[in-house]
Amino acid sequence: MSERLHLPVIEGQATPAEPRRRHPAWIKATLPTKPAFFELRSMVKELELHTVCESASCPNIGECWTRKALTIMILGDICTRSCRFCDVTTGRPKPADPDEPRRVAEMLSRLGLEHTVITCVDRDDLEDFGAAHWAETITRVKAACPQMTLEILAGDFKGKTELVDIVLDADPDVFAHNLETVPRLSRQVRVQASYPRSYKILEHARKRGAVTKTGLMLGLGETIEEVHEVVDQLAGLGVDILTLGQYLAPSKQHLQIERYVHPDEFAALETYALAAGIRHVVAGPLVRSSYHADGQAALVRALRAKHP
Ligand code: SF4
Repeated sequence: MSERLHLPVIEGQATPAEPRRRHPAWIKATLPTKPAFFELRSMVKELELHTVCESASCPNIGECWTRKALTIMILGDICTRSCRFCDVTTGRPKPADPDEPRRVAEMLSRLGLEHTVITCVDRDDLEDFGAAHWAETITRVKAACPQMTLEILAGDFKGKTELVDIVLDADPDVFAHNLETVPRLSRQVRVQASYPRSYKILEHARKRGAVTKTGLMLGLGETIEEVHEVVDQLAGLGVDILTLGQYLAPSKQHLQIERYVHPDEFAALETYALAAGIRHVVAGPLVRSSYHADGQAALVRALRAKHP
C-alpha cells in the first residue's frame, strides 16, 4: 500500500551511479536542519519505530518533522509487495512485533499531537494481513491520546471486507486507502494490487460511515480526463478527502516519471474535485497522503459529526 512512497531524486543527493536529475523549480525539498527534526528522529530511534517518512525518503521530511508531523509505519519495515513506485524494501518480513502498538502509543502520547497518520507495510504473509495488529495499535493510541484524531492509511486486505471491519471496529477517525493511480495504469504501478479491489475497500469503509480519504500520484502517464473520471467516481462514492501529488521516481529501477504536472494543473484539479463534491482536497507537486494532515483535526471532527 502506501503513502507513499515517492522517493525523489533530490538535487544534490543523486548517487554516483546515477546522474543527477533536475526537477523543475517548483519541486524543492526542505533540508532538515532544525533541532526539532533531530529530536524527533532520536525519539523514533529510541522507541524502535519505523516511519514512512524515512523509509520512502519523503521530500517533505525536513518541513514535516520540524513541526512534529510524522507518519509512523507499523508491522515492520519490510513489505511483501513490490509496487513499482515504492521505495520500501520488499522481502520476507519478521513476525509482527506484539509490543509495537504500545511503543506507537507512547511515542504519540509524548508528542501530544492534535492529529496524526499511521500507515503500514503490506503483510500478505499474515493470515489477517495485519488487521488484528492494526486494531490493537488503534485501540492503544486512542487510549493514550484521547485528544488526538487518528488517521490510518491502510492496505487493501486483499479485498476482504471482514478484515477491514476489524480495523474499523477499533474506530480510527479517518480511514485512508490510496488508489495511487487511474484504473488503466493500476496494474503497471501496483503489481499485486488492483483498482477494483482498492475501490471496493473504500466503498465498504464509506458505507460503514467512516470518514474516508484516498490519494493519487500524477505524472505516471495518466490523462487529465482519466483523473477527472476517478474524481467523479470518488465524489459519487462520498469520499471525504483527496490528495493529489506529483510522482517522483525513487531510482532508475522504479517507474520513471512520464511528466511533471505544473502547479497550475494541480490547482485546476483541486477546483474540479471540490466542485465535484469532495469535501477536502489537497493538491500540489509535493503533496503526499499525509502532507499537512496534521492541520486537519478540526476538519476530521466536523466530518465525523456529519457521518453517523
Ligand atoms: S508528507 Fe507524510 S510521509 Fe512525507 S514527511 Fe510529511 S508526514 Fe512524512
